[in-house]
Amino acid sequence: MNQVVDIVFPKGISLVIKREDLLHPLISGNKFRKLKYNIEEAKKQGQEVLVSFGGAFSNHILALAAAGNEYGFKTIGVIRGNELESAVEQNPTLFQARKLGMKFLFVTREEYRTKTNAEFLKKLQNRFGDFYVVPEGGTNELAVKGCEEILNEGDSQFDYVCTAVGTGGTISGIINSSFSNQKILGFSALKGDFLSDDIRKFARKNNWELIQDYNFGGYAKVNEELISFLNELYQKTAIPLDPVYTGKMVYGIIDLIEKGYFPENAKILAIHTGGLQGIRGINLVQQKKNRQTLVYDF
Ligand SMILES: *Cc1c(COP(=O)(O)O)cnc(C)c1O
Repeated sequence: MNQVVDIVFPKGISLVIKREDLLHPLISGNKFRKLKYNIEEAKKQGQEVLVSFGGAFSNHILALAAAGNEYGFKTIGVIRGNELESAVEQNPTLFQARKLGMKFLFVTREEYRTKTNAEFLKKLQNRFGDFYVVPEGGTNELAVKGCEEILNEGDSQFDYVCTAVGTGGTISGIINSSFSNQKILGFSALKGDFLSDDIRKFARKNNWELIQDYNFGGYAKVNEELISFLNELYQKTAIPLDPVYTGKMVYGIIDLIEKGYFPENAKILAIHTGGLQGIRGINLVQQKKNRQTLVYDF
């Protein structure tokens, strides 16, 4: 569903949000797209267990747990940070994933870095048996194929398509299915120059640009300005955004509109990639620090 953002922008510019967050209550947004063909492949291979990796608030981990629950797989989440082992009840993402049947393996940050090594995977296999590995963040060829289904024919009217970028899988799919008249803008949710190279691995066109100015200091970092912006936007438009990905993107889009980046009458489509489940966790952290929270959660 495409939803017009009911704000009058300068120069006749318009902004529409593609509500991919509404695809599924738990397998939200781009994580739904990224898992679709991986689930099919795991079924084809006769696998019964899905393994993946993620941090404390990972949208991907919860989506995997929900997909396993829905499509009949056992799921194992390798979680970064062994201190979380005793804090699952206080972590809305992990708590919900566990309720959906996911088993966890908590590892130190050092060990997490070795998670794709043969030795680490061997250890997992000894403990859990055979499994299908979905990469961290869910990005692989099949995930990109799923994300190629985000845009449809009707979206050819837009001059710009914007999306938040984590591992680059989602934007790659969007680039591949974009129309020749369109420019794809990726708003990086994390610091890192490696992202453009990651996108080039999967993207088959060059009509894109990565914008690095709106990561707010790094992955999952937020400040008062961002939280206020999201609360005000929600009050004005009733569109809920998350503070890790889509919130930073829309902040960036509106800032770029105000700075004159877009030409007159530009039609901008922004992809709502979901991630709303993470808000509760972020709000708990904000509360602990006595900082402002988002006025909505899911
Ligand atoms: C994971 C995620 C992204 C990033 O997607 P990539 O394919 O890793 O670039 C963007 N938005 C939301 C809400 C996400 O959960």
